[in-house]
Order: sequence, then C-alpha cells, then structure tokens
Amino acid sequence: MAVVRPPSILVIAAHPDDAEIGMGGTIAKLVEQGHRLTLLDLTNGEPTPMGTPERRKAESEAAARVLGVHRRVTLPLPNRYLTDTVENRVAVAEVIREVRPELLFIPYWVDAHPDHVAAERLGEAARFYAKLTKTEMRGEPHYPGRVLHFFSTHYRLHVPPAFIMDITDQIERKMEAVARYRSQFNEERGNLANLDTIRAVARYWGTRLRRPYGEPFASKEEIGLQGLGDLV
Ligand SMILES: [Zn+2]
Repeated sequence: MAVVRPPSILVIAAHPDDAEIGMGGTIAKLVEQGHRLTLLDLTNGEPTPMGTPERRKAESEAAARVLGVHRRVTLPLPNRYLTDTVENRVAVAEVIREVRPELLFIPYWVDAHPDHVAAERLGEAARFYAKLTKTEMRGEPHYPGRVLHFFSTHYRLHVPPAFIMDITDQIERKMEAVARYRSQFNEERGNLANLDTIRAVARYWGTRLRRPYGEPFASKEEIGLQGLGDLV
C-alpha cells in the first residue's frame, strides 16, 4: 500500500524568532504529524541590543532543535533594511526551488516592522518566481500550492483568522523554543514579560476553540476541506 506523505513545508520569516513566536506550536505539531518542515530566516536578525550574530545563530539552532524541524536556513539579507527587490526575490525563489515545499507559511501582510512586510512581499513574489522556466535561477521550477500567513506582528492586531490551530499539546515546546532566544528576552532588556504575553495570546486563541491554547493563521484564498475529521 502506498504511504501518503504529508505535504512538505517551508516557513519564511524575516528574523530568527518570528516563526517561533507566531507559529512555534504549529511547527512542533506539524513535525509530529510527519511533515518535513524547513525554516528560512531571511536575515540573521542582528544587530539587536543584546545579541551578536554568533549568539543569535546558536539560539536559533537550539530553538529549531526544540521544535524538531528538518533544517534551518538563514539567508544573508540585511536585517532592518530588508526590501522586496528582484535580487532578493531570486535568492528566496532559489531556496524554494531547492527545498520544493508543497506549502508555504509567510508573515501576515500588515505590520509596523518594515522587514516583516518585506518578508511577506518577498515570500509571495518568490513563490511565483520559483515556478519560472528559462531563467538564470538555480534549481528546477517549483510552485508551492498554498500560502498561509502567521502572526508575529509588531502591531497589536486582532484580525479574524482563516483558522486556528489547536496547540494545547505543543504550547510548552513553543515557549521553550521562544525562551531559547535569551538575547531577545532577558532582564537587561526588561522584556521578560513578553514571554507571558506570547503565552497569553496563545491562551486567548485557544479560548476561541474552547481549547487551552491555539495559534491563528490568515489566508488570502479560501481553505477547502476533504472532511470534518480534523475540526476541533
Ligand atoms: Zn521579526
């Protein structure tokens, strides 16, 4: 009997820690369910007040191990000055052509942080570029069939989500992964309370499912179901 492999996934984020904050529980859950999941950070996230490139890299690798991701890739695009350029689209598209994911997660499209907005634009454009033939791009054409958007926004938004993933069984691993970023969440910066906020937000979205914890996602296209088996 043929084994049906769950779709492979690429999560694209501007900075190491964005994906963990927005969808760390979902990442852990999808890995548990057998999806091959790759994380792509477009920048190394540095400089930050307490970070160094080496420290941030060690933290992001540790967080990826906590979540069990297949691979973490960091592109050398400029933190704080990430822009949607043709060159950057090609760089992201080449990763898509190499990883060949069936599903993409990219940031939500409205945000105060220009890098997050640029990452969303780059993700959409690179998805399109990745399928092009007769180009100089490395790799063979590939088109991820679906794009979903996670929330790791600097705006305090409340957007009605397309769906909410139940992460009740993964919340502790999400928090553990986020906590690996000690350069970002620490007493010196006086922002340890942000960890409580991340948990509280997951708790809130859980209440919308009558479950302990959840993570919301947006989609520009409608989402179809094959059945009702996975409804919470
Ligand atoms: Zn970020």
